[in-house]
Formats: sequence, C-alpha cells, structure tokens
Amino acid sequence: MVRELSHYVDGQHVQGTSGRFSDVYDPCTGEVSARVPLAGAEEVGNVVANAEKGQREWAAMNPQRRGRILLRFVDLVNANMEELAALLSSEHGKTLPDASGDIQRGIEVVEFAAGAPHLLKGEFSDNAAAGVDVHSLRQPLGVVAGITPFNFPAMIPLWKSGPALAAGNSFILKPSERDPSVPLRLAELFTEAGLPNGVFNVVNGDKEAVDALLEDPRVSAIGFVGSTPIAQYIYATAAANGKRAQCFGGAKNHMVIMPDADLDMAADALIGAGFGSAGERCMAISVAVPVGKATGDALVAKLEERIADLKVGHSLAKDSDFGPVVAASAKERIEGYISAGVEEGATLLADGRGLRVEGYEGGFWVGPTLFDNVTKDMSIYKEEIFGPVLSVLRAEDYDEALRLCSEHEFGNGVAIFTRDGDSARDFASRVQVGMVGINVPIPVPIAYYTFGGWKASGFGDLNQHGTDAFRFYTKTKTVTTRWPSGIRTGASFVMPEGS
Ligand code: NAD
Repeated sequence: MVRELSHYVDGQHVQGTSGRFSDVYDPCTGEVSARVPLAGAEEVGNVVANAEKGQREWAAMNPQRRGRILLRFVDLVNANMEELAALLSSEHGKTLPDASGDIQRGIEVVEFAAGAPHLLKGEFSDNAAAGVDVHSLRQPLGVVAGITPFNFPAMIPLWKSGPALAAGNSFILKPSERDPSVPLRLAELFTEAGLPNGVFNVVNGDKEAVDALLEDPRVSAIGFVGSTPIAQYIYATAAANGKRAQCFGGAKNHMVIMPDADLDMAADALIGAGFGSAGERCMAISVAVPVGKATGDALVAKLEERIADLKVGHSLAKDSDFGPVVAASAKERIEGYISAGVEEGATLLADGRGLRVEGYEGGFWVGPTLFDNVTKDMSIYKEEIFGPVLSVLRAEDYDEALRLCSEHEFGNGVAIFTRDGDSARDFASRVQVGMVGINVPIPVPIAYYTFGGWKASGFGDLNQHGTDAFRFYTKTKTVTTRWPSGIRTGASFVMPEGS
C-alpha cells in the first residue's frame, strides 16, 4: 500500500488539494513507496498566510527563548536519530551511517544558531556627534523560504531553517519531491519542541510551488540549493520580484595530488570522496589531478586495487560502502556519461554500468567507475555527473594543476594532497574555488564557518550557515539618537500640585 504524504502547515499535516502527485521511490528496490502531493499556487498562498501569522508571535519572543526551543529540537532529533536515518536512507539510498551524518551536520548548524542572542547583537557608537549616539540592530525579514535538493534531505533544510528561525523569521520549506519524508518528520519534531504553529512549514511541490513562492510579495527571502540552471533561474526571478536570494548550484570538485603526497592517504581519500553516497554530494571529488607521470601511474594503480574491493549494496546492509543512486533517471544520466566518456576517448578502468545487486534487481544501481587519461574538452570533465564516476586528468606540473582547478566553470570545493606547506599555502591562496581542503578531501566547513562555492556553484554574496546566515536572514536598522535636555535643567523640586 503506497503512503500518501502531506504538507505541514500551522503545526499539522495537511492533505494536498491540487490533485497532482509525484511518486517517491525506494531506490534499493525501484518500487514506489509513497506519493507526495504537489502544491498549487493557492495552497502555497495559504501556507504563506499562516507563516505570516505565526511570525509575529515568534519574533516577539526574546532570542534566548527561541534558542532554547531550537536546543530542545536538537535533543529530539538526537533521541530519534535511528528512525530518522532509516527513513532518510529508504528514500535517498545512502547508507545508514551516511544518513546519520546528514542529520548530524544539520543539527550542528541549529546548535550554532541557538546562539542567536549573541549573533543578533548590533553595533553602538557613543557620541558620534555632540550629544548624538548611533546604534544598529538586526531584525527578522518576516516570512522566508528554503528550496532544497534531494541529496541532503535533513542537512540542507536545517542549514537554512536553523539560522532563519533563530533570527525570528518564520520558514517555509519546499523540499525535494524525491525524499520529502524526513523534512515532514523534522516539522513534527519542531512542533514537539515547542515551536509555535505556523513558524516552520513544509510545502511539497515542483516548479509550480516554487514559482508561487517566488512571486508572493509576502515572502522576503529565498535560500536555494540544487543544480546550477535552477539556481540561476531562482536567483534572477527572486531579484526581479524584489527578494533577496542565496542560490547554490552544482560542482566539479578537483583533488590535486602532488608528487610528495602520502599516496595511500590520497587514494583512500579519493575513494571515500568520489564514491561515498554514490557520488551524490555537491562536495564529492569527481576529478583527481595527479601531478607528474609517476604520481599518476602509482595513484591509478592504488585506485584500481581499492575499487575492486568496494561493495555496492542495500543502503541498510552493514557491509555496503555505498547504495543506489536516487532515481532511474539519475542512473540513466550517469550511464549516459560513462558511454560518452568512452566515445570521447578516455580510458575506462572500472565500469559501473549494468550493475546487478542480487535480490534487488529493480534498484537504481551504478557501480564505481574510473576513467584515466581524461582531457579538458571531454563532457565527463566539463559537466557535473553527480554519480560514482571518478575521472583522472593528469597534470604535468603544479601550475597546470592549479590552472585546471581555477579555470573550471564550477568552484565549489577543491583539495590538495601534499607534504609541502609552501605548495599548500600557495594553492589555498591562489585557487579560484570557495572551499579548500589541505589533505582533507571534503572540506565542508563546520557550522560556525560559512559554506559557499564560487563561480557557477553559487549566486549571491552571503554564504550558508556561520555568521553570514544571520546577515542573510536579518535586515539591519540603524538608529541615530539625540536627546533634548531633560530634568537635569529646569527640574522642579517642588511637589506638583493637582489641577
Ligand atoms: P534540482 O535543481 O533538480 O532540484 C533542487 C530543488 O529545485 C528541488 O526542490 C526541486 O523541486 C526544485 N526544482 C527543480 N526543478 C525546478 C524548476 N524548473 N523550477 C523551480 N524549481 C525547481 O537539484 P537536485 O537534483 O535535487 O540536487 C542535486 C544538485 O544539487 C546537484 O547539482 C548538486 O551539486 C547540487 N547541490 C549543491 C549544493 C551546494 O551547496 N552547492 C549542495 C547540495 C547539492
């Protein structure tokens, strides 16, 4: 029996009324496990109206109390971690430990956001002119929305909503229609933690719901994460509608391996960062750039050895290194890229096409894939594949490796593996990419730093989480004050008489 999912509005589940639905799959079996309603413009309008109503009470609460509710939410998420991770796994296909990591990296941002009293403090200048003081304060925007991708169904909604809520906004989440059950469960836990009704809402849907949010004048800001073409569309449309927006897009993350690197460490890192979560991470490494022929030959041999030992299997099985990709269309797209790589002349050393997993023949499986001798003009290098496909593009020297990373259209994450501090320092300083790892393959910044890519990986000037998030979700008011002289002059020391 297929479950029918709902929206979550005003502290409760609400059935969809548009009559449109999208199927949600179990990627391990390929079977439909639920159907999610796709909201129409009228339903979105109702959610916004509720969010607007809830926001006034929420913004009036002092930020320390708001923070306490968020910390109660974190406790509830921790208490329900196993159930949430299994639910996440069942719709996304990532392994259980990886699903817990998805949730964990989300609640770390909520914990950080609970420090709102400190983060919302303004500035003060005493005696800016004779008898004049100036101070600034940060006020919530009102109703804000987050539109999030399938690949981190807990982490990214919490990256957006934690700071937005802590700052006193109400939040409307439009999660991916591929794995909406965890976002709905998080909404229940927010209510259980004491969040007032209407302050955190989930509206499920596709382009129609997104466009309704973009066009609604009551929505002040849009935080988006997903593919680059949609990020660009949302950034432009939000701006045309007078909203602020931060939109994060796709990626093609390189790892440079210098001749002096610890090659075993680099190979292990590449296997985890290239194939973990079936390569469906925006910070996955999809291009390895060994410097020099000897480094390239040795690295490729180590990668081939390790790939032969990888186990692709059911996401709940303890011995699976990674599970299926999210959808049949994703499997088809990834296998199409592998065929294109062969046609374009890259050397295919491990082929993940046509993988069968016994007992789960209907699942969306793609095995680990390794290409050597990839060149800059190939589609497998230029475009984001978003699957378990690792390309090796060999560089002659450090300068060529640095140029490759810097000149790529995307600029999300990058890593260098070396024992030489000077090369590492030069690389971190000059590379044109937003997040850099030095002997760290997936440099996702911790909650109190900010996360954001450059170039086609990010649109907008403020990053996610860290202090930027509080600047994004608040508007600054600056107050200039002069007081007329009061009771210090002409004060009366005589008891006033009644009239
Ligand atoms: P996607 O762009 O297909 O969808 C993202 C969101 O946009 C979903 O909520 C979806 O419903 C909505 N959407 C889809 N088409 C739309 C349209 N035409 N108009 C309006 N809204 C639309 O992305 P995805 O497949 O869910 O996620 C994978 C992508 O996200 C990859 O490109 C990955 O690199 C990227 N990503 C980026 C980051 C980052 O921080 N830079 C993080 C995670 C994922």
